Amino acid sequence: MRIVAIKETAIPLKSTLRNAVFDFSEMTTSVVAVITDVVRDGKPVAGFAFNSTGRYACGAQMRERFIPRILKAKPESLVNAAGDNLDPEKILACMMQREKPGGHTERSVAIGTIEVACWDVVAKIAGKPLHRVLAERYNSGKVLDKVACYVGGGWYEPGKGLTELQDEIRAKLDQGYTTMKIKVGGAPIPEDIARVEAALKVVSSSANLAVDANAGFDRERALGYARALAPYELRWFEEPTDPLDYALLAEVAAAYDAPIGTGENLFSTQDVQNLVRFGGLRADRDIIQIDVPQSYGIAQFSRTLDMLKRHGWRRASLFPHGGNQMTLHIVGGFGLGGCEAYPGVFGIFAGFADDARVDNGHLRLPERPGIGFEAQNALYAVMRGLSAAA
Ligand code: MG
Repeated sequence: MRIVAIKETAIPLKSTLRNAVFDFSEMTTSVVAVITDVVRDGKPVAGFAFNSTGRYACGAQMRERFIPRILKAKPESLVNAAGDNLDPEKILACMMQREKPGGHTERSVAIGTIEVACWDVVAKIAGKPLHRVLAERYNSGKVLDKVACYVGGGWYEPGKGLTELQDEIRAKLDQGYTTMKIKVGGAPIPEDIARVEAALKVVSSSANLAVDANAGFDRERALGYARALAPYELRWFEEPTDPLDYALLAEVAAAYDAPIGTGENLFSTQDVQNLVRFGGLRADRDIIQIDVPQSYGIAQFSRTLDMLKRHGWRRASLFPHGGNQMTLHIVGGFGLGGCEAYPGVFGIFAGFADDARVDNGHLRLPERPGIGFEAQNALYAVMRGLSAAA
């Protein structure tokens, strides 16, 4: 078998949302189709992915380096031993040829997105949902039927006050979610504390509310928020510092007993290793939030998990960033702590299958072969158009 074409297109997000650091008005996302010569039901098997949430489209790197490297490689060098399916490990190695160490985000998002689309092919050819393929390969065959899922929301929006924030949370609880994360750091501390107290009145306990500072604090504000938030013992306090400021993070952790979450803005196994070695994090409570499609993809993520295990971390401590169908399969397949959801935001890129239902804070894992974007009508229309254009 061989890959016959790889297509990319950039789609604007058209969002009015804002966190503590930036707004999403210019945000775009790369959608990728990997098309093969394997035919199922009369059609070539194509795998799809997009570059998750919060990093701009990266088609230039894909078109100039990664897609040509894959298409120039000998087809037999990219497939499994039986020759009947793609081998994403080999495709990752092929894309990494002639790449200088370091500078991860310049390529990790582009490579990871193509890599995840290759896994969609792998699962479709195997006739299994991706989470099952991953469970068999990376979690001793432990196939789950549902995973915990929390809502990432509580953004700052024009005209949104405490009542609107509470309405937002109530609507999510009505949909079956139990745990909510809201943004902090986009307002003065007393105002944000009022938002936290308003949110706590709606959720059932402090263990069901997390806050996200989006890496926007300097030392004084990070420690100020740590002191102000500590008494509430929230589910977690996310990204109180610059993603690479491990020394400051260690200071915050020393001043803040409740769980801290971070890692969505680290893109390599080495950076995550530095985080757990030097960031003062505690493996018994803290949360790591790598975004897998943005971090070289699934094969590299399995190496990150091996590294974390050597440092005493359990898979239950991982709550990957990105409320989407790719992350849902990854959480279920590897047996991680839980996944994020952004119901109703980020347009066609938000959420899961159109008929997905949340029950008591848990999402059922899809049974359709592959990642199952086919069950997300608006997004799949873009993907289908890409593969048809090949
Ligand atoms: Mg975050």
